[in-house]
Amino acid sequence: MVKNAAINPKSMQDVLGDLVQVSRNIGEDSKYVLWGGGNSSVKIEEIDFRGQAAAVLRIKGTGADMKTLTVNDFPGVRLDDIGALRERETMDDDEMASYLAHCMLDPQGPRPSIETLLHGFLPYGTVIHSHADAILALANVEDPEKVIVSALGDRIVVVPYIRPGFTMAKSAAQAVDAMPGAEAMVLLHHGLVTWGRTPMEAYESHIDIVRRAEEFFENHPYPEVGRRARWSPGVRDQLVQRMAPLIRGHLGAKDPVVLRFADDEQLLAFTERDDLEDMARLGVVTPDHLLYTKNVPLVIPAQPDMADSNLDEMVRERIEQYRERYGRYFERYNSGQFVMRSPDPVLVIIPGVGVWSAGPSPSLSRVPLEMYQHAVSILENVEKIGRYQSLSESETFEAEYWPLELSKLSIRPHARELQGKVAMVTGAAAGIGAAIAKRLVKAGAAVVIADRNGERLRDAVKVLAAEGGNDQVSAVVMDVSDESQVMQAFETTVRTYGGLDILVSNAGTAPTGRLTEISLAEWEASLRVNVTGHFLVARQALRLMSRQRTGGNVVFIVSKNALVPGPEFGAYSVAKAAELQLGRIAAIEHGADGIRVNMINPDAIWTDLWSPQLRADRAKAYNIREEDLEDFYRRRSLLRRVVTEEDVAEGVLFFVSERSSRTTGAVLPVDAGIREGFPR
Ligand code: ZN
Repeated sequence: MVKNAAINPKSMQDVLGDLVQVSRNIGEDSKYVLWGGGNSSVKIEEIDFRGQAAAVLRIKGTGADMKTLTVNDFPGVRLDDIGALRERETMDDDEMASYLAHCMLDPQGPRPSIETLLHGFLPYGTVIHSHADAILALANVEDPEKVIVSALGDRIVVVPYIRPGFTMAKSAAQAVDAMPGAEAMVLLHHGLVTWGRTPMEAYESHIDIVRRAEEFFENHPYPEVGRRARWSPGVRDQLVQRMAPLIRGHLGAKDPVVLRFADDEQLLAFTERDDLEDMARLGVVTPDHLLYTKNVPLVIPAQPDMADSNLDEMVRERIEQYRERYGRYFERYNSGQFVMRSPDPVLVIIPGVGVWSAGPSPSLSRVPLEMYQHAVSILENVEKIGRYQSLSESETFEAEYWPLELSKLSIRPHARELQGKVAMVTGAAAGIGAAIAKRLVKAGAAVVIADRNGERLRDAVKVLAAEGGNDQVSAVVMDVSDESQVMQAFETTVRTYGGLDILVSNAGTAPTGRLTEISLAEWEASLRVNVTGHFLVARQALRLMSRQRTGGNVVFIVSKNALVPGPEFGAYSVAKAAELQLGRIAAIEHGADGIRVNMINPDAIWTDLWSPQLRADRAKAYNIREEDLEDFYRRRSLLRRVVTEEDVAEGVLFFVSERSSRTTGAVLPVDAGIREGFPR
C-alpha cells in the first residue's frame, strides 16, 4: 500500500465511477459551470506499467466538458512527482506543462487540467472546483473576505486572485494548511473548491456551500434601479429585424459570423437599466469567460425612430470604437510576445431590446451568450450587498493572453468551407431539398430548412441535427406561395442566426397533364408555387442580403424542362422557364451587390418524392412501361448514369462556395448529359 493519507479507500474503478457521476451532476447544472469550465479529481492507488503500486491523481483533462465526462477524460498523474514540487519556490507555465507531461501514467492520455497542481497539492481524496454563480457573486465584491464570512461562515479559506498555475496552487495549499478544519476554499474572481475523503463527500459539500451562498443572496432584496419604459414586443421585434443584419454585416465583413439573440426577462430588464452603459463596463465574473466573451460587451443605443442609414452608421461607428479601444488595451500590456486576438466585440447589447453574441458557428456563438446571461444575474446579485469588483485591467490581459488558456481554442475543430454562413433551403423536408440541406450542414453552414409540411419537417430536423448538431439546424414551416408566411420565415431566420448568406430556392410541385386537360385552378396553382413562390423567397433573401452588404448566394433549382419541355408537362415546364428567367433577372439586378444568382437544371432525379401517379404519367407520356422508367432516363443520357439528389447537392455547394466566386447568372445541368438540355 502506498503511503498517502489522502488516498481514497475504494477500488480505482469504483472511485473514478463515483467521481464521473458527481462531476456530471455539477456539469449538468449551468449555475455551477459552463462550457468546459470547472474540474474534479481523485487520489487513488493504481498499478503502474512496471506492475508496482503508485499513488495517482486522476484529474479532468483540459477542455473536457463536465456534463459529458467519462472515466477516459481523467488522465493519471503520479502524486509523488507532484508532491515533490511543493518544495519549489517558482515554476513558470512552460516548465510546469513539460513537468506534468513527465508525470503522466499514460503518456498518450489527454492533457491534464491547467489546475492540476492545485488539486495535487491539497491533502484530500477528492477535490471539486466550479465557477458557481452564487460564489462568483461573493468573489467579485469589494471587501470580499468580510462578505464571505457573513455568507458562508468562518471556516472558508479565501485566496486572493492569482492566475492558475504553480504560484496559485502553492499559495492555495498554504492557505488551506493554515486553517485546519477548513470546509472549502473561495478563489477570488474565480470560483469555489470543495473537498472530501470520497467524491460523494466533496460533492455534498459543494452543493451545501453553494446553497448557503444562494440563501444569503435570497435574504437581501434587489436595490431600486431606474429603467426606461418597456417598448412593446412589436417595436422591439422591428429593431431586432433591422439591427441584426447590420451588426452581422459589420462584424462579419471579413469572416462571417453567426449571431444568436436573447431577450429573456432578466436580460431584457438588464438592458433597460438607466445605468446600462456603466453596468456593461464592469468586466468578467471569472477569467474562464474571457476567451469567449471578451472583458466587456458593446452597447449600441439604437432607437426605433432612427432612419436605416443612421442606424447603419451608428453600428459601424460603435464597432470601430470598440476595436480601437481593444487595440489600445492590447498595446498597453503586450510585451511583444503576443499576437492580438480579433478586436471585435463578441457581445452586442441594444438597450431595451436584448443581447446578441457573435461566433464562427451557431454552437460557438451560443457560448458567450449563455455566459453573459449568468454574468448578468451575478452582477445584479452583487448589487444587493456591495460594489462589484472584477479583475484589474492588467490581470485581465494576463488571463486573456495566457498561452495555456489560449491553447484551449486550438483544440477546436478546423473551420469548414461554409463556416459562419447562414443558409435557407426551401422544400427541404425531403428529396432534393433534404439532400442539399444535408450537404450544407456538412460544409459547416447554419441551415434553416423550410417546408410547408410541418410533420415531415420535424423528422428532417432530427436527421440533420444528427449530422451537424442541434444548433446548426433550425426549421420553419412555410408555404412559399404565401407572402405572409414567407415574411414570417425570414423574420424567424433573422432572430435565429442574425441574417442570411445563402438561399436555395427549391420548393416546387410537378403537376402533369395535356394542355387541353388542365383546369385553370391546376394551371394557376403551378404558377403560384413554381414561379411566384420562387419570386417571394428570393425577394426577401435579396432584401436581407442587401442590408447585410456582405454579398450572398441564391441558387434556383430549376429543371431541364425549362429548356427542353416534355409532353403533358405544360403547367410545370412553363413555370420552370419563368423561374429560369427570374434567376437571370436577379443576377443582373444584384451583381453590383456581390450577390451571385445561379441556376441548376436537374433531370430525372430518383427521389422518394415521385408519386405513383407521376411515375405512371411519365411512363405513359414516353409510351414505355413504368418499371422501365428509370432505365429509360439512364439510357437517354450521354453518360448513361442515374442522377441522384446528392449530385444536385454537390452542384449547389459549388455555386454557394468560393469555388465559383466569379460565376453568376449561370445554368448548371445535373442530368448525366442531355444534348437538348445544353444551356444556351
Ligand atoms: Zn477555474
